[in-house]
Formats: sequence, structure tokens, C-alpha cells
Amino acid sequence: MEVIKTIPEMKAKVKELKSRGYKIGFVPTMGYLHEGHLSLVRKAKSLADKVVVSIFVNPLQFGPKEDFREYPRDLERDLSLLEKEEVDVVFVPSAEEMYPSDYQTYVEVVNLTDKLCGAFRPGHFKGVTTVVLKLFNIIQPDIAVFGEKDYQQLLVIKQMVKDLNLDIEIVGSPTVREPDGLAMSSRNIYLSPKERESALSLNRALELAERLVKEGEKNPEKIKKTLFEFLRMHPYLIVQYIEIVDPETLDPIEVIEKPVVCAIAAYVGKARLIDNKLIEP
Ligand code: AMP
Repeated sequence: MEVIKTIPEMKAKVKELKSRGYKIGFVPTMGYLHEGHLSLVRKAKSLADKVVVSIFVNPLQFGPKEDFREYPRDLERDLSLLEKEEVDVVFVPSAEEMYPSDYQTYVEVVNLTDKLCGAFRPGHFKGVTTVVLKLFNIIQPDIAVFGEKDYQQLLVIKQMVKDLNLDIEIVGSPTVREPDGLAMSSRNIYLSPKERESALSLNRALELAERLVKEGEKNPEKIKKTLFEFLRMHPYLIVQYIEIVDPETLDPIEVIEKPVVCAIAAYVGKARLIDNKLIEP
């Protein structure tokens, strides 16, 4: 496994791989890897000849009051996990090289980013699309794999790729959960044992929403109210939003007659956690 830390070296490596005709699969991450990330790596490996994983805590996608500084980092551990997965190249650029002091270009997907997390994290998705487009330009992947855990992010990236005519296939991959149902996240490390217990209720709320829909409930407002009441019973947890939306546009649904995505964001202690579920009536 090669670990590459500069953009020119990464570009040279890509040139070499391309000249040998390899199909490149790419998995962008912010590191502090868990089984969720590794599932994306395995999917990329199954779809491409060579796999590049990037590890970069992107300052641009964090708000001024968010956790950029405390975001967990452990490069040695990440590299050993990726080595076990037989990843070909790990790209670990520096913030100084990605955003030199005269940096002034940004990429922004509009409408889709007004909703869900976008409404609460101004500038977040602009930071995401900007870094992902930069990484795409450096790595020139044929395919790139993103987790459905960050469902809105997956849609936003697909929209950018379509709008900007990039020749990259964006592949979504299912959310990997702990045995008790908690969606894996690098931010779970912030949770105390008691907070972790409360965090479990996010997945339980999504399961409750699914049960209500399966039982015939078609009114999203009633389901949201039930979920708010359910989540209110859990200490340490403050709901930011519960939404039931169209899986493609992320617009709110009025009557549940076809598959919908139920998405939740909540603070549990200082960790902002998100989870979602595709629900079919
Ligand atoms: P992050 O390091 O949090 O920026 O995530 C990097 C990639 O891993 C993104 O495409 C995420 O959607 C994906 N990811 C994060 N957590 C999970 C999970 N529990 N299951 C599947 N994919 C995940």
C-alpha cells in the first residue's frame, strides 16, 4: 500500500495507473475509520482494479462552532486498517496544499442543499462539494463510493457529477450499524456510555416510523409527532430535525404512497448524529 501526501505525487501515481489501463475506484473519508468506511472500500475493490482512499479532515465543511479541531484523528490506526483491506493507495493531503492562502474557488449545488442538514449547517455542503470535486480532479476515479448514512451528501454529489458532466460513476453503499443498531460514525467516540444509550433511540425511532408506515399510516405529520414524542423521552438527546421526504428531491411528502426517506438529526451530548431509513409503504 502506498501512502501519498502531496498532490503532484498523487497525480503522477494516477497517470501511471491510467497508462496501465486500470479502472480506479475512490473512497473519500475524513479518517478515524470504522466498519462503515471499510464496507465502502470493499465495494470499491469489487468494482475497480485499483482503490484509492483519501483521508482528509476538510476544514471547509465545518462551521465556525463545529468540531473541526476535536474531530478524532488516528492516521496510524487508519493506515493499518486500510492495509488489511489491501487498499492500493492512501492519499493524505495537507490543508495547506489543498487550500493555499490565495485559494478562491468554490463549487455549490443549490436547491438540494437547502434541505435537511443543509438548513442547519450553512456552507457545509459547499465545503463538501468543493473538496470532493478537487479530490475527483486529482484522483480522476472511474467510480467513487459514498455511504447512504449521509444520504443527502450522496444525492448532492450525484447532482454535482451530473450537472458538471463528470465521467464518474457514483455508487451508494448501505449504512453499517453496530450490533445494537447504532449507525457507525467517527463521532460516536464523543459519546459517554449514557449518551450512547440515548443515541440508540435514533435508529429505534426510524424503526418505529417504518412500523407505522407498514401498519398503514400515510400521514407524515402524525409519524413525525410520534417520533418527536418518542425521542423526547430520551435524556441527553436534542432533536434538530425529523423529516419524511422524497428520496430523490428531499422535498417533504404530504401523503405516504411510495417509498420515502425518514431522516433524523440530533445532538446527543456534544455529538451531532444523523441517521436515515428508506421506508416502503
Ligand atoms: P466521513 O469519514 O464521515 O466523511 O465518511 C466517509 C464516507 O463514509 C462517506 O461516504 C460516509 O457516508 C461513509 N460512511 C460513514 N459512516 C458510515 C456507515 N455507518 N455506513 C456506511 N457508510 C458510512
